[in-house]
Amino acid sequence: MNKTVIITGAAKGIGREIAIKFAKSGYNVCINYNTSEKKAKELKSVLDLLGLSSIIYQADVSNREQVDNMIDTVLNTFHSIDVVVNNAGICEYKLFNDLTEADLQRMINTSIMGTFNVTQSALKKYMIHNKCGSIVNISSIWGMVGSSMEVNYSTSKAAIIGMSKALAKELGPSNITVNVVAPGAIDTDMNANFSESEMREFCDEIPLGRIGKVEDIAGVVKFLACDEARYITGQVISPNGGIVM
Ligand code: NAP
Repeated sequence: MNKTVIITGAAKGIGREIAIKFAKSGYNVCINYNTSEKKAKELKSVLDLLGLSSIIYQADVSNREQVDNMIDTVLNTFHSIDVVVNNAGICEYKLFNDLTEADLQRMINTSIMGTFNVTQSALKKYMIHNKCGSIVNISSIWGMVGSSMEVNYSTSKAAIIGMSKALAKELGPSNITVNVVAPGAIDTDMNANFSESEMREFCDEIPLGRIGKVEDIAGVVKFLACDEARYITGQVISPNGGIVM
């Protein structure tokens, strides 16, 4: 039986590439999206043309009922959940003094509650009983070292690291690994607001001299879910071109 992966926020950017990587490795893929329906359908068509197995599912990861329904649908369709990739995320650039309670709550709801909802639902409904599986949570270098004007983003990404390490300890006896991928700057819509000169300046500080590509992240996520990585848990792997060591 093919293994099954759920990837949140998989219609575009890093999540899309992760979905393609797993699909090409023979996984059944649940492509979760929230607002990018057209892009999710396009991705499904690409995978269909390649003869690869996938479904698309609209769910706001901050909404537990929608998440529970998504997990039920995946189990009814594919009969297992082997890998969960919590990739959905939002960013926001603001001075700390301009941040509102609502800004922080939105960040917490998407990043922390989203990861909590999808992970707990998949664990309760399948993974704990199956005593096998991998959870990969997407954080950021800014969750490791902090970013000026991104206090709420950095806070949420640091929380993902704490949650993952604690959960890795709790789930070890159930043979479920929990790891974090903390990318550096990657070329996606999330960085579309930076000007060319800002990006050039940023590149100058990266030892490998370039912004990351979505492929640089997808390969690491896929590795953490594969058999060769069964002894890796509670780790933070940071593909970042060397900007954070
Ligand atoms: P992106 O292209 O903006 O993608 C973000 C994804 O998150 C979208 O697919 C979006 O879905 C999804 N999403 C947001 N809120 C959601 C919600 N409530 N429910 C379900 N899905 C939701 O950005 P990206 O660069 O690929 O980011 C992917 C992950 O990598 C994020 O966690 C981000 O923080 C992290 N990251 C990115 C970078 C970078 O430089 N790009 C660096 C470090 C970490 P819809 O479009 O369907 O709404």
